[in-house]
Amino acid sequence: LKKSYPVYDNSGKLFAKKKHMCAVDDMSFFIEKGETYGLVGESGCGKSTTGRTIVGLNHADSGEILYNGKDLCKLSDKEFRPLRKDIQMVFQDTLSALNPRQRIGDSLSETLKIHGMTDNEKRREAVVEILKKVGLSEEHYFRFPHELSGGQVQRLGIAGALIIQPKLIVCDEPVSALDVSIQAQILNMLVELQKELGLSLLFISHDIGVVRFISDRIGVMYLGTLMEETETEELFEHPLHPYTEALFEAVPDPYIKRKELKGLSGEQPVRTEDFKGCAFYTRCPYATDRCKTERPELREVKPGHKVACHRYNND
Ligand code: SF4
Ligand code: MG
Repeated sequence: LKKSYPVYDNSGKLFAKKKHMCAVDDMSFFIEKGETYGLVGESGCGKSTTGRTIVGLNHADSGEILYNGKDLCKLSDKEFRPLRKDIQMVFQDTLSALNPRQRIGDSLSETLKIHGMTDNEKRREAVVEILKKVGLSEEHYFRFPHELSGGQVQRLGIAGALIIQPKLIVCDEPVSALDVSIQAQILNMLVELQKELGLSLLFISHDIGVVRFISDRIGVMYLGTLMEETETEELFEHPLHPYTEALFEAVPDPYIKRKELKGLSGEQPVRTEDFKGCAFYTRCPYATDRCKTERPELREVKPGHKVACHRYNND
């Protein structure tokens, strides 16, 4: 996948006419049915762009998104519409996407109507059922969004995604705005629902502790591309990429949240189209001249464990 944006300076004007920042560049991964794939990295690394592109909120510049053998990038909006039901998204800030004057039950019911459920009574039943599923209750049907707590709002966000029975849900920082105890409740619920419904999840977060808890496999993303990818346990037992090491060092305890990567110095470059070499070059303690000019490919260095770093590439 590749997705770029024009670069703006602080005044909001175009920085340089033909310069494009690649939010996502050379990004490639797959998600198995019923699997949770965690995408982790600092803010601005392209995680959200990746997620939004998969659900069709962005158009990719190039690349393909294969879903059941169909390339979603090649479909017109009309062709994409029936598939949209299968691929849903949960955002960090569900509240801002809700109509403040619409009762919760009505907004869920409307979603069902849009997706072709015409019978009022059936819709009401389906809404009550989904409210219960996410740990809300029938009485929430008549509440307004602002009457809910932060955790309840995110439960509602999950209900809104689940109600049309998707196959894949892209969760973009769904618990990041919540207290740690509430986070745990929501994550546990997601895991339960996933098992029950056989869902696939793409779980996006900057919080390595949260990603560790929920993911089967993890992709570590930096500056628009994957640096490392493997099963969760393997990643924590044998991290290979220097950036992954730095991520772990910044968070010695998964329950302590830190905003910054303390172990890292050096600036993050802007990834423009003519970007060369390793994206992590400016901050990597092991960088060599080769790293500056030659981009390391993501390759499998042991079964199921991929890394993009010249240190693990001997040719
Ligand atoms: Fe560091 Fe070079 Fe590996 Fe990049 S390729 S992570 S700069 S050692
Ligand atoms: Mg984001």
